[in-house]
Amino acid sequence: MRIGMGFDVHRLVEGREMWLCGVKLEHEKGLLGHSDADVAIHALCDALLGAACLRDIGYHFPDTDERYKGIDSCKLLEQVMVLLRDRGYELGNCDITICAERPKINPHIPAMQRRLAQCMGCDENQVSIKATTTEKLGFTGREEGIAAYAVALLQEQ
Ligand code: MG
Repeated sequence: MRIGMGFDVHRLVEGREMWLCGVKLEHEKGLLGHSDADVAIHALCDALLGAACLRDIGYHFPDTDERYKGIDSCKLLEQVMVLLRDRGYELGNCDITICAERPKINPHIPAMQRRLAQCMGCDENQVSIKATTTEKLGFTGREEGIAAYAVALLQEQ
């Protein structure tokens, strides 16, 4: 078994959609980025790549590459799973924590689990998603951005 961790931050701005774990949330601001800026999927991809010692998401999908402009991050996650399976790894489980003051994440967690399990070709019970505020402290507390952490366990087949 191999373990990996990932972390990502994206800035909150007006005039962008908010995508988290492949689900669109209604909010007055969205996350800024070259792709759809799905901060939770990016942290998850880094955890998965890290577990396989395969560098990071920026290495595989550079933000200078026009192919990835505005891309649905679920597509990146699917490609990460192909890389892992090519090397003989299968997902054990993963666990994501999203740090955001607003909007409320909890009502969307079942839909997020379904979406990620679909992208990764695994069961929903292999995909844990949690959300927390940072008690109005720091950049997440001031609603300047959203942060996400992820850990993933891989099993060699
Ligand atoms: Mg990112």
